[in-house]
Amino acid sequence: MRIAVASFSHETCTFCPKPTTVEDFEAGGVLYGRDVLESARGIPNYINGFIKAAEESPGVDLVGILSASRSRGGSSGSWLTEECFDKYSRGIAEGLRSAGKLDGVLLALHGAMAASGYMKPEAEIVRRARAAVGNVPIMVTLDLHANEDHELVEAADAVFILKTYPHVDSEEVGYEAARCMIRSVKGAIRPVMAIRKPGIITPSVYQGTEENPAREIMERARMWEREEPNCVNVSVAFGFAYADVPDAGATVIVTTDEDRMLAESIAQDMSDYIWSLREPFAGKRLPKTREGVAETIRLAGEGKTPVILADHSDRTGDSTWVLRELIDQGATGFCVATIADETVIRRIKETSRKGGEVTVSVGGHADCYSGDPVEVSGKVEYLDECSYTLTGPMSRGDRRKLGLTAMIGFGKDNHVIITPTLHQVLDDALFKAVGLNIKKLSIAAIKSRVHFRAYFNKTAGSIVVVDAPGLGPADLTQLEYNNIPKGLYPLSEKR
Ligand SMILES: [Zn+2]
Repeated sequence: MRIAVASFSHETCTFCPKPTTVEDFEAGGVLYGRDVLESARGIPNYINGFIKAAEESPGVDLVGILSASRSRGGSSGSWLTEECFDKYSRGIAEGLRSAGKLDGVLLALHGAMAASGYMKPEAEIVRRARAAVGNVPIMVTLDLHANEDHELVEAADAVFILKTYPHVDSEEVGYEAARCMIRSVKGAIRPVMAIRKPGIITPSVYQGTEENPAREIMERARMWEREEPNCVNVSVAFGFAYADVPDAGATVIVTTDEDRMLAESIAQDMSDYIWSLREPFAGKRLPKTREGVAETIRLAGEGKTPVILADHSDRTGDSTWVLRELIDQGATGFCVATIADETVIRRIKETSRKGGEVTVSVGGHADCYSGDPVEVSGKVEYLDECSYTLTGPMSRGDRRKLGLTAMIGFGKDNHVIITPTLHQVLDDALFKAVGLNIKKLSIAAIKSRVHFRAYFNKTAGSIVVVDAPGLGPADLTQLEYNNIPKGLYPLSEKR
C-alpha cells in the first residue's frame, strides 16, 4: 500500500498589510520527496503521526511529495498571491502524478489559508490532488482554526481537525487520519461525512480548550466518539476570525463508518450545542492595555513572577502599546519579546556591536494599530543570527530560525528583543537563546493568544492577557469584513 503525503499550510491574517509570496515560503523552507517525511521524524506534528501509523502497519509505504508549511512571517502574512497558491498546490498535484501508483493521499493542511483568486483554497488543493490521483481516498488534517464549508467535505474522503488549543495533539490527529486511511484502503471502513456551520465567530484568544466553553464543546465531541461505535471522528474547528473569507466561523465535521444518518445527527447536535453556548463563548472580556499592565505590575510586586503578559492582538509583530505602557507605568525587570523591526536591527548592526550603546526608535510602523515607535536607549545585549529548539509541549524538538535578532537592555533591568518578523513565544527557549533567565525576570511580555499556555500555565508565576489595539482584536466588531457570511454571531446585530 502506497500513501502519498503532502502539506501546504498557512494561517492567513487578511487584515495584515503584506501579501504572502513564494519568496516567503521559500525563505521558510519548502521540502520535496523523502525530506517531507524525514524532517518530521521525532517532532510531534501531523506528518510524524502519519509515519507512526504507517510503521505500525506492515506493507504500508509513505511517499513524500511536497511540504510548504512554513513561511517567513507566518501568520502576519496576508492573502497568498495567486502565483504562490498555484505553485505549491500544482506542485502537489504534479508530485502525485509522477509518484507512480498510489492507494491514497494524506494532506496536512491548515484550513485558515486565504489565497487571492481562490476563496476556498483547501478545497481547491484537494480538487487538484484529486485530478492527479483519481478515485483513491484523500484525507485531510486541519488546524483547530480552520475556516471550511461543504466544498472541502465534498472534495475529500475524511477530515480530521485538531482537538486542542494550545495545539498539543497534531501528532495524534495525524495518527488518527493515517489509521483511517489505512483501514479505508483495506476496505475495513467506508468513511462518510456530515458538516454543519453553527453560525458563530470567535476571536482566537477565547478559544483555548482548557477553558469553558471551548472545553465543554470538545468534551461533547469526545463523548460522541466514545459512545457511538460507528462514529470515526467528531471534528470541531472554532475558525480563524482574522481571515475575511466566505467560509469563516466555526465548523463541525463528523465522520462515521458508512452511516450518513448518524453523521448528520451528531453534526446537528454539536452545532446546536455550540450555538447554545454562543453568549459565554463570544462574550468574554479582557483588560485593555493600561489596566492589564497595571495588574501585571501589581502581580510582579506580590512576587508572582515571572508574570507572563500576553498581547494577543498584535498580528504584524511590531505593536508597541505594551512596551510604551510598561515604560510609562514604571515597570522594572521586564523583557518585551518581541517587537518586529528589521530596519532597526539593520541600523544597530551598521552603527553598533554587542556591548555598545544605542538609541533607536523601535516598532510602530506597520499600520495604525501598531502604536508609535518607542525610543529606547541602552546597551546592545544580543546581536546575532538567532535560532533555537522548542522544548515545551507544543512542537517540542522543532527548530525556530529567527534571523538576525537584537536585544537592547535599558532602564532598570529592562530588555526588548527585536526580531525581523512577528514572533510567537511558546516557551522559554527564546529567552535562553538571547542569554536571559526567564525566572529572574519580573515580567515577560510576549505576543501570543493561547499557545503560550501549554508551557507557561505550569511555569509562570501568573498570567495576564491584554486586549491591546491590533489587527487581531478580541472585539471583532472593530474589523471591517467584506467576505464573511452574513448573520454570524456576535456580529449579526452590528451588520
Ligand atoms: Zn491554530
